[in-house]
Amino acid sequence: MPITHGVHALVWTGGWSPDEARHAIAATAEAGYDLIEIAPIDPTGFDAEMTAALLQEYSLQVSASLGLSEDTDVSSEDPDVVARGRERLATALSVLRDSGGTVLCGVLYSKLGKYAGPATERGRANSQESIAWLADKAADSGVTLALEFCNRYETNIINTTQETLDFIAAVGRPNVMAHLDTYHMNIEEHSFREAVQAAAVAGRLGYVHVGESHRGALGTGTIPWTEFFSALTEVGYEGIMTFESFSSEVVHRTLSNDLAIWRNLWTDNRALARDALSFTKSRLAAATGRA
Ligand code: MN
Repeated sequence: MPITHGVHALVWTGGWSPDEARHAIAATAEAGYDLIEIAPIDPTGFDAEMTAALLQEYSLQVSASLGLSEDTDVSSEDPDVVARGRERLATALSVLRDSGGTVLCGVLYSKLGKYAGPATERGRANSQESIAWLADKAADSGVTLALEFCNRYETNIINTTQETLDFIAAVGRPNVMAHLDTYHMNIEEHSFREAVQAAAVAGRLGYVHVGESHRGALGTGTIPWTEFFSALTEVGYEGIMTFESFSSEVVHRTLSNDLAIWRNLWTDNRALARDALSFTKSRLAAATGRA
């Protein structure tokens, strides 16, 4: 099974009205991708039926990612906040399922943002229990969860592949996988190769985000792409690989601020997306040739 190549919706649009959804889905298909990763950060009112119809029209697959807010943080010690978080996750799961997707990824386990201190034991337990709860719901509709560890400025629950694998072991559900993002790995890992191998050996390598060190165009930053793609090829990764890039050119009301997107790294998103796909495919082909 070949890798499924995807692109994050925020390359195209910061909203999801019928016009914005059509624009994003058409542009994704036109750029040659197999999949669009939608971002139902606030899944209430997200039109899954309209999304599913558009995906069918353009023959595209879909995944969904989100991060929680302060008010819906399942790693909070406040049971009311955790309850709101679970409700949000359950709604996002429905949106993903009804749009036709089978993988829900991102920062499902905590707030996406800077914490003032380390995670507490109670907070971590609340997070793990919530993910176990969501995983059981997801299993009912054949959905896999992929937990995206983030750098230290965006979560205090999991910052490395190993911490993610330990968290997944504690959750103890078969449909919870690790989601590796090169942008975060670049800040926190000591070795891209060892991180990929550890996730693969654990049987939990479930999702990949390819993003540059500055979140701009692939190949223009400092990510060790040769090492990363070689490692993925060596372990035979066959899942989804989504290109993620953010610029002040396309702004989402909350996500852009949570990710600290303050400057303009590109203006032409069509060229950006096309170049990212050809970069990824050619580097993967080169890695296969070396293997
Ligand atoms: Mn990511």
